[in-house]
Amino acid sequence: MTKEKLQQEIRKLAKDRKALILAHNYQPPEIQEVADLVGDSLELSLQAAQTDAKVLVFCGVVFMAETAAIVSPEKIVLLPNPQAGCAMADMITPEDVKALREKYPGAPVVTYVNSYADVKAESDICCTSANVVRVVASLPEKEVICLPDKNLARYAQRHFPDKKIIYHEGFCPFHDVLTPEDVQRAREAHPEALFVAHPECRPEVIDLADHVASTSGMLRFCRESDHKEFIIGTEVGLLYPLQKQNPDKKFYPASEKMLCEAMKITTLELVYKALESLEPRVTVPEDIRSRALRAVKRMLEVPRS
Ligand code: SF4
Repeated sequence: MTKEKLQQEIRKLAKDRKALILAHNYQPPEIQEVADLVGDSLELSLQAAQTDAKVLVFCGVVFMAETAAIVSPEKIVLLPNPQAGCAMADMITPEDVKALREKYPGAPVVTYVNSYADVKAESDICCTSANVVRVVASLPEKEVICLPDKNLARYAQRHFPDKKIIYHEGFCPFHDVLTPEDVQRAREAHPEALFVAHPECRPEVIDLADHVASTSGMLRFCRESDHKEFIIGTEVGLLYPLQKQNPDKKFYPASEKMLCEAMKITTLELVYKALESLEPRVTVPEDIRSRALRAVKRMLEVPRS
């Protein structure tokens, strides 16, 4: 079957199942093409929760499907490839969070949404790479635990000279891999381009950035900028929506090393099978779900300005 035919069959089956197909910005182009919504993980889950879809097919990784299940417990959440894990989310456990709380009593725990439900459940509040500064600013305490990403925590620290941000030694291997030398090489190859970095990059890479933003923030920045060329310091999958939305602009990966394999193992065939069988499902036990939801809701209550 051709790619186009399979995509048509998927759309037909999705309609029959009253299903919404969600694709993260890092998914392969053929998956983004067939999706109802493309975006970052939290925005996809929140948008999907507002719909009357009975089934959500999350083309992303496990923690993203869990977040959809946390905010939409009444919907069936499918993860077409259950092997799609997240190397960063794997770097922390609920026991690690408890140990940090014991070590720093009174310090609130801010957990990046790129974590599993059981870690979110141990947290006071969640954050995204877009709102981490606002979330930390909303906390009166001088000491704040920010996990699991040490790079995101150190990025937050830059904005709060009067606070101490305590971090866990987690990181995203596909952002942390980017070095200043890579950026230098990309700048030499594209001297007219602005360098845009994701906060999951190392501090020495953030120092070199013309702009720092989440994936949604990068899409907005590149769309609104008068500039025509950009070096993109995040997972290479983002180049597809960037180029699609801005056909008159040029985008270059900061490094081809920034490729998350887990984000590429969802195929059209697996999406079709998931819709056909309504498996594999992702569920979150209710005691974990309700505590994780509390941390997510608290984040959503933080004022925008
Ligand atoms: S890019 Fe990094 S944070 Fe995102 S799913 Fe892959 S390992 Fe996890």
